[in-house]
Amino acid sequence: MPQVTTRLLKEKLTNKLIIDRGIQVEDANSKDMYIVLASIVNEEIMPNWFNTNKHYIKKNYKQVYYLSMEFLIGRLLESNLLNCGMLNAAKEALEELGFHPEDVFSEEHDAGLGNGGLGRLAACFLDSLASLQYPGHGYGIRYRYGLFEQRIIHGNQVELPDYWLKDPYPWEVRKEEEAVVIQFHGKVHMFKRNDGSLEFKYENTDKVMAVPYDVPVVGYNNDVVNTLRLWSAEPVFGDDTNVSSANQEFYHDLDHQHSIDQISGFLYPDDSSYEGKELRLKQQYFLVSSSIQNIIKHFKKNSKMPISKLPEKVVIQINDTHPSLAIPEMMRILMDEERLSWDAAWKVTTNVFAYTNHTTLSEALETWQAEMIQYLLPRIYMIIDEINEQFCKQVWFDHEELRDKIPELAIVAYGRVHMARLAIVGSFSVNGVARIHTEILKKKEMKDFYALYPNKFNNKTNGITHRRWLLQANPKLANLITDVIGPQWIKRPKQLISLLKYSNDRVLLDKFDQVKNENKTALANYIHQQTGILVDDNSIFDVQIKRLHEYKRQLLNIFHVIYLYNELKENPNQNMTPRTFIFGAKAAPSYYQAKEVIKLINTVASIVNYDKDIGGKLKVIFLENYNISLAEKIIPAADISEQISTASKEASGTGNMKMMMNGALTLGTMDGANIEIHDLVGEDNIFIFGLRAEEVLGYYQNGGYNAQDIYNTDDRIKRIMDQLKQGEFGIHDIEFKDIYYNILYHNDPYFVLKDFEPYLETHELAERAYRNRQAWLSMSVTNIAYSGKFSSDQTIKEYATDIWKIKQV
Ligand SMILES: *Cc1c(COP(=O)(O)O)cnc(C)c1O
Repeated sequence: MPQVTTRLLKEKLTNKLIIDRGIQVEDANSKDMYIVLASIVNEEIMPNWFNTNKHYIKKNYKQVYYLSMEFLIGRLLESNLLNCGMLNAAKEALEELGFHPEDVFSEEHDAGLGNGGLGRLAACFLDSLASLQYPGHGYGIRYRYGLFEQRIIHGNQVELPDYWLKDPYPWEVRKEEEAVVIQFHGKVHMFKRNDGSLEFKYENTDKVMAVPYDVPVVGYNNDVVNTLRLWSAEPVFGDDTNVSSANQEFYHDLDHQHSIDQISGFLYPDDSSYEGKELRLKQQYFLVSSSIQNIIKHFKKNSKMPISKLPEKVVIQINDTHPSLAIPEMMRILMDEERLSWDAAWKVTTNVFAYTNHTTLSEALETWQAEMIQYLLPRIYMIIDEINEQFCKQVWFDHEELRDKIPELAIVAYGRVHMARLAIVGSFSVNGVARIHTEILKKKEMKDFYALYPNKFNNKTNGITHRRWLLQANPKLANLITDVIGPQWIKRPKQLISLLKYSNDRVLLDKFDQVKNENKTALANYIHQQTGILVDDNSIFDVQIKRLHEYKRQLLNIFHVIYLYNELKENPNQNMTPRTFIFGAKAAPSYYQAKEVIKLINTVASIVNYDKDIGGKLKVIFLENYNISLAEKIIPAADISEQISTASKEASGTGNMKMMMNGALTLGTMDGANIEIHDLVGEDNIFIFGLRAEEVLGYYQNGGYNAQDIYNTDDRIKRIMDQLKQGEFGIHDIEFKDIYYNILYHNDPYFVLKDFEPYLETHELAERAYRNRQAWLSMSVTNIAYSGKFSSDQTIKEYATDIWKIKQV
């Protein structure tokens, strides 16, 4: 890509303002600049996009398709500039024209088409696929409303709709000519063909048009542009059944159109939990049917190979079980449209799909009422039923030792369809997302399936794109790293390891210190501007940002804050390094316990932040509407990364990796990828505490834990719990009795009380360590040095070699 200079960009921006918007630079605002800059970037992207597609078709490469109900991509202007090699020139050009780049980039509304880690993973993977020159594309849904916008009002979470498409979205291209029809409901009729084979015809189905909107996925400095294809639901025009309907059915039709709109209307806001809503099932089938139809059409048109060869040219990764209806949908198309036999179709299908498991939480495991699927998708249900039948027979005859287990293995059992079982049976690969998570799948959660299919199971530890999370989010640190070790790490993030040589170099550590401090000041300014609260930028920035979930234990964190506050009230002059506890978290709107914790954090904040007795040693900041753009502001400023899930519960975590890469030290449990961080950096460069996974699982299995005992014997805990029960934080009629009762009546299922003391002790260790500035900085640099291992480039290379068998082009 030709290097675009600042001067040329200024000229282009100025001209475009006049030609496209009829204004001069002097009269333009940041939004005008955002629009024209995006348009200039698109001029760079479009020819490469066209050429990439043409090249893939010409060479007939094997393609990977990543199917996901969520893509949490955030803003694209800055990352597209970065990947096009134009970011520095653009920043300079904007500044010279009198604009703050920050303001211009902020005009873009975050594409919040995901809940949290799972959706962000999909976005990081797309970035790595394009940057490593793999032919790989994403398929998702173009929700008109993304994840809700969170406001905090009187301490409570309030959800506002996120209409992110209010302004035209400059990165999408509508591809009407690629639209496909999706069919719901109706009746299935069976006929015998002359050759004796069966033909299935569908009648009286409700038809919906799936129209793709393509978003370019720009590779880093390599001219590759892959595609994220997002499907939008629209009425079918020119369809006989619609046109011939009588006039009086007009109003019925309006209703019908409204329900069509809903299919791509909004993203369900539940993270790691499952709700059996019919509309959600419709969304899932809408995604998979449009995507599979599209994939097959593309294969037939471009490869000129028989459909039985599909696995040679196509591999489909399904992100959790949400798109697992793709398996019966593939069977349907291969049999009913391509006329393959069951056996031939099954062979193709099970060589095309690979499944990623994201959780072992029981509340997140997807199952659907069999009747719901049968009613909404009659033909798909027949196929699922047949897959189940054959699978159960196979277990019965070939695995006598597992006969008793059939009810727990069956895809359809007790009137429900189990999506994880469908995904395992229908895929050639099943992967967990961190070492411990995969081990728990193999040894516990999916033990019997592992016995059936030992070769399917494999681990792929999650990753994050260092381009967004270091180069873009923390340019000062990125520049410093390049000054020290040269720029090779940008293409090969593992080379960050060269930083190790400098982890005791005082001159360098001072520079790191300076960068961290500048980032902290910037965040402190942002906090002041957002909340009116002044935080001490010399305090320890202790950060927990992630979805709010009981297993993630934000409650343990705020208990610690309350403990510190109680201590300071008793002894205001004690020698304590000032701390700023920063939270960001959205709760699912219907998750009562999670919302109580948000209210508690905000209430504690409103007391602590204004209490003159404690001399400003403690501040609690809850930043509302945690999303990608906010994460990019917070992470470069973090000193301590709170990763404190109940061991065994967090599949991997990726927030832990982002903060590590930005020099924060992890304070966490031996859970998810924390374990891999621990093993890399060594125990001297991380703060680990609390129950281990085996202990937690042991307590669940055998009992032996009594929360009431801890409450009775630990005065610090008793004090906090009683403060909650007695409504001591109960301003504005807010009380927190339910938190108290939830812990004691349910025997503290997430071990908050059990892990409290080790948590507190570990915080004391960390506080002491922080006082030794050089030692702390050295640990921080060590963490950055090892973080290249968690670049999603590394993860994607492993997927490509072990699972997808695709090559860099
Ligand atoms: C990385 C990220 C997550 C995932 O965070 P975890 O700490 O791994 O749960 C969620 N939301 C956003 C906006 C993120 O950037």
